[in-house]
Amino acid sequence: MIPVEEATERILSRVIVLGSERVELARALRRVLAEEIVVSRDIPPWPNSSMDGYALRSADTGGASSGTPARLALAGRVAAGSVAARPLTAGEAFRIFTGAPLPEGADSVIPQEDVTEEAGILFVPRPVRLGDFVRPRGEDLRVGETVLQRGRVLGAAELGLLATLGHAQLSVVKRPRVGILSTGDEIVDLGGVMGPGQIPNSNTYSLMAQVAETGAIPVNLGVVRDHLEEIEARLRWGLSCDVLISSAGVSVGEHDFVKAALGRLGAEQHLWLVDMRPGKPIAFATIPAGLTGSVPAFALPGNPVSAMVTFDLFVRPALLRMAGHTRLHRPMITARALAALPNPGRRRGYLRVTLVPDADGYGARLTGDQSSGILRSMVDADGLAVVPGDTTIEPGGRVNVILLRAV
Ligand code: AMP
Ligand code: MG
Repeated sequence: MIPVEEATERILSRVIVLGSERVELARALRRVLAEEIVVSRDIPPWPNSSMDGYALRSADTGGASSGTPARLALAGRVAAGSVAARPLTAGEAFRIFTGAPLPEGADSVIPQEDVTEEAGILFVPRPVRLGDFVRPRGEDLRVGETVLQRGRVLGAAELGLLATLGHAQLSVVKRPRVGILSTGDEIVDLGGVMGPGQIPNSNTYSLMAQVAETGAIPVNLGVVRDHLEEIEARLRWGLSCDVLISSAGVSVGEHDFVKAALGRLGAEQHLWLVDMRPGKPIAFATIPAGLTGSVPAFALPGNPVSAMVTFDLFVRPALLRMAGHTRLHRPMITARALAALPNPGRRRGYLRVTLVPDADGYGARLTGDQSSGILRSMVDADGLAVVPGDTTIEPGGRVNVILLRAV
């Protein structure tokens, strides 16, 4: 059995970052930037007022006090979206509003609540410091500086910045298209009629959602029976995708044909059987096909929890890497066991836990039955507690937990 770290390494060393495409700015959230962004214009483009008030020359207010205010002639007006009709000269003040360009000749602004005005004369009761309430040109962004590097994951602030710089479209890394195939004679898809011994298909839907959560595009390849040629044909059909994922039929049973089907597609197998529970039977192969010449294929176990956990550990980081991300792994925290966390058996355990915030961090408790068919225990899981084989974390003991969601 291959240790999880070694399996991860074998997988990640065989996936490559996809090419780029141009998208509308408003569709670029959470995408990875594929170009360097250099500032093309100063922001703000000109000095402007940060207050509603009066633009003036600070030198005209030296020595002013409430007893002997400076008196300035109110000689103009400038609102946001316009410019002053003429430059301001000594002894003058212009009415100005937030965001309006500072008139030429002015160097400072005094807020309206600090002054009085009477018959066209502005009374300034104190000296105004040079540059007061003026946002200088280029204070936010300066022409020529690099503000965003390639590989940047675009969030709301980045998109605002890019809009400020006039980027209506951007070059971002493509999202992988991920074909998802469920296999098994017993599996009936939504809308199908269940015969004796059959069960509903859940893996397709949890896996499609997990794919979508990484930002990739899920492609439903449906359900096929435990039949070598059928599996092969459906996988071949899916080779237009960037990645293939199958579930079930990858163990050592007489009805497990997925690895053989991959073999018939010319796949090179890089791993099988990983030292973990749930999950052990997972295969990873590359099929010679597709635009990049090699389509990574993950054959995940059939048990619903095993499929989800192996997806999270192995497929998720691979999809993130293909989409240009460099932070591939989920955050890990340490928590205190609120009750025993037993991991019987030799394989490393990934136990489903709920996390309870407390004074010194988090407490962790099992979500319930840990067998790999219990999807419900996954529903309640905030994280996966990583417990070595043949080990029980006693109550109060510390344990590493992979965070599956914000808590
Ligand atoms: P297998 O890996 O084929 O031995 O399947 C392991 C278990 O997972 C069996 O109990 C299957 O019925 C179950 N299983 C396989 N595929 C699915 C699926 N698409 N949805 C739900 N359960 C499944
Ligand atoms: Mg089966």
